[in-house]
Amino acid sequence: MIAEIITIGDELLIGQVVDTNSAFISKQLNKIGVSVYQITSIQDDKNHILQALADAENRVDIIICTGGLGPTKDDITKKTISEYFNDTLVRNTAVLENIETIWRQHVRTELLQVNRDQALIPSKSKPLMNKLGTAPGMWLEKGDKTFISLPGVPYEMKALIDNEVIPNLKEKYNCPFILHKTMIVYGLGESALAARIEAWEDALPKHIKLAYLPNLGKMRLRLSTKGFEEEQLKNEIQEQIDKVIPLIKEEYAGLEDEDGSVEIVIAKQLTKLGLTLAIAESCTGGAVAERFTSNPGASAFFKGGVVTYSTQSKINVLKVSKSDIDTFSVVSSQVAEGMAQNAQQLFQSDYAIATTGNAGPTKGESDAEVGTVFIAIATKSGVYSHEFNFGNSRIKVINKAVNKALEILLKEIFKN
Ligand code: ATP
Ligand code: MG
Repeated sequence: MIAEIITIGDELLIGQVVDTNSAFISKQLNKIGVSVYQITSIQDDKNHILQALADAENRVDIIICTGGLGPTKDDITKKTISEYFNDTLVRNTAVLENIETIWRQHVRTELLQVNRDQALIPSKSKPLMNKLGTAPGMWLEKGDKTFISLPGVPYEMKALIDNEVIPNLKEKYNCPFILHKTMIVYGLGESALAARIEAWEDALPKHIKLAYLPNLGKMRLRLSTKGFEEEQLKNEIQEQIDKVIPLIKEEYAGLEDEDGSVEIVIAKQLTKLGLTLAIAESCTGGAVAERFTSNPGASAFFKGGVVTYSTQSKINVLKVSKSDIDTFSVVSSQVAEGMAQNAQQLFQSDYAIATTGNAGPTKGESDAEVGTVFIAIATKSGVYSHEFNFGNSRIKVINKAVNKALEILLKEIFKN
């Protein structure tokens, strides 16, 4: 089964909004065995929309549009879709009730006519009830082909994809089950890793595919398979993972979470083990802590963090030794380790990570070259640190330091 995604909105074409909707939709479609053949972004323009729909209909089975359903721009998408299907717009009672409910619960001012009119949908369409907003999704069919129109607001679109579109597509088309499992491996280059697991790789069953995904010192090893027996596929993949882990025991750092973020893997592992974390940051300015606190459930393992940005605050707040700072400079392994150990004590945590560095563009209070960052980790059995140089672009230095700190922590906690 193949699909196309059409994202509608002037803002996408002037670079004001980045089209994140297509990436999300592609990912969800991929999971049910639907391949995305093309992604197109177009203006809020009737002729352009008609052309895009006709082109897509010639190529694929499933067409998903997002955007242009807001109350303001004359309902251009809805009218155009209706025209494309030689249809007329009719008021849908269930949609109107949904709009009235949302208005009563969240808006509480008088319901405007423009919002009431959002309950107008093509008579041939089935509404996809949007519980998070007033623009309904719409499902239309032409023979075997399916046209879906969704609001552009990302969280509304996501809820509709997960709760309505995917289940309905699964029911209509005979979709296979697709499974990806990604292992995170540190400290082995691609060829070294390939040599290590060669025999295992050669013995993989034909329907299980392996991909190497290298990324800045980290390797992701992805196993993929596809078929109609969900349980059996899950078991087969797990069997292969169990076979390969002993071959990469030292380097294996766990399975990647579905959305791919290392901090979620760390969060799950710390929560599972009942262990806690504290963070002491200088050059990363709280960005490491933010990566954890932006996900729900962080309080289960994250005790707290401090941003000791100035040299004096490292001494006053974190009790870093002044003589270490004088002797080794504020950007040094001694200071990073002092920060980590003292944060561990201050917050009574099992682990603490610390960053101190010089993100540039000027050298600041240390003599360290721009881009120099020390990252330390304190554990129950001691403290250690590494020195890095992340280049001379401030934002890149900060981001790379955050990623590296997370990697060091991930690797450490998977030693358990
Ligand atoms: P209309 O275009 O009919 O006025 P609208 O612009 O209010 O409606 P949508 O087009 O559904 O409503 O977009 C709503 C919000 O979603 C906007 O803030 C828009 O920038 C954002 N958005 C739209 N399309 C995308 C997309 N493809 N990726 C990410 N965000 C998007
Ligand atoms: Mg729009």
